[in-house]
Amino acid sequence: MPAFQTSPGMRDILAPQSVRWRRFVDVFAEVVEAAGYGQLITPLLEDLGVFTRLGESTDVVTKEMYDFVDKGGRHVALRPEVTASVCRAFVEHHPPTPWKTWYAGSNFRYEKPQRGRYRQFDQVGIEVLGADDPYLDVEVIALGWEFYRRLGLRQVTLRLNSLGEPDDRARYVTELAAYFTAHHAELSPESRITLAKNPLRVLDSKRPQDAPVVAGAPRIADCYSDAAAEHFATVQAGLSSLAIPFTIDTGLVRGLDYYRRTTFEYQGGTLDSAQNGLGGGGRYDGLVEALGGPPTPGVGFALGVDRTLLACDDESVFVAPDGATDVFVVDTTGGAEALTITSALRAAGLRAERAFDNRSMKSQMKAADRSGASHAVIVGSNELEAGAAVVRPLRATLVEGQPGQSTVLRSDLVDHLVAHLRNSTS
Ligand code: AMP
Repeated sequence: MPAFQTSPGMRDILAPQSVRWRRFVDVFAEVVEAAGYGQLITPLLEDLGVFTRLGESTDVVTKEMYDFVDKGGRHVALRPEVTASVCRAFVEHHPPTPWKTWYAGSNFRYEKPQRGRYRQFDQVGIEVLGADDPYLDVEVIALGWEFYRRLGLRQVTLRLNSLGEPDDRARYVTELAAYFTAHHAELSPESRITLAKNPLRVLDSKRPQDAPVVAGAPRIADCYSDAAAEHFATVQAGLSSLAIPFTIDTGLVRGLDYYRRTTFEYQGGTLDSAQNGLGGGGRYDGLVEALGGPPTPGVGFALGVDRTLLACDDESVFVAPDGATDVFVVDTTGGAEALTITSALRAAGLRAERAFDNRSMKSQMKAADRSGASHAVIVGSNELEAGAAVVRPLRATLVEGQPGQSTVLRSDLVDHLVAHLRNSTS
């Protein structure tokens, strides 16, 4: 055992998975930037109060926060999610509305680590502050949907709900509390505790013991005001007009106290149920105000990078790139030739690597094969003397009937390889 390993729930992400990870963020950026969203980079660390404003009834805030007092006596926390930071930034910079932002980065939650659940995990997400339009809800949901489509995922499903207006929600919570209290004895011990804090969250319980009570619970839809019902109807019609399939799930209540009206979740088709929540979001109110800003509506989502990549694995899409370079330079004359050749090839836009430590020809050729490069450039003492290099197609690219290796003058080498590789990739 090495003296140090990553702390539980924390991981190193090595290549090629890290390359896949970066491309994942690139694809996300392409999708949302095409819709006018700008990237927001916020600190990983904020005053604790930024996150406690999310509400005292969520585990994320009460149990899972990495908080500590810094050397200046400030009570700070590593962010458990990004929405609160976006709202804090909105209040700090008062940008024009609607403010359309996207983000990517790590969050920290002290959870029990398991597959698809880590203590440091990454999300990508968008938030729009300052517009109340139901068509914005549709845009936000559709962008998440388009992102999954771009990754190649075909089995993601969308669950949709509306929590109504704050008054509707308050009425519903009272009804719900009365109902669950009447069925107190049938609930799991965990849900009894949740009930005392936030009856809505009991609906979220995945424990089998709670299922019958949850199934018989009053429905939020019976409490919608006209405005809430109309907003929800427009969201549904908008999604249908874009041919985005969804199912209404009245049990879908997002964790935070500020959610109202639209809530939604994307689920993977293949992951087991505890980890099949790929991402979700909804419309929220009051968070900007709680952070000292003017009353401002918000809507957004956060998608988990890990779980989405697990879903990609399960559907065999968006596979990790092989990371291979184009050319591997083998130099048995000491290494100085490989230096100038790789440098010239890279300057011409090719991906080139080389061997080090002046190993034998055999060992360098093995390294060239292992590298996955399509061609080796070989310089031995004969080539050095002749001012030339051998260009040899490697295993994977050696096609029957095509010329094998050729000797090329050093002065022509870069142009030769550029032309050759362009032809072989077109
Ligand atoms: P939330 O911010 O809790 O709504 O989570 C949004 C998404 O982030 C989830 O659907 C997951 O994909 C992902 N996520 C949340 N918590 C974790 C975690 N501990 N580890 C990995 N992914 C997570």
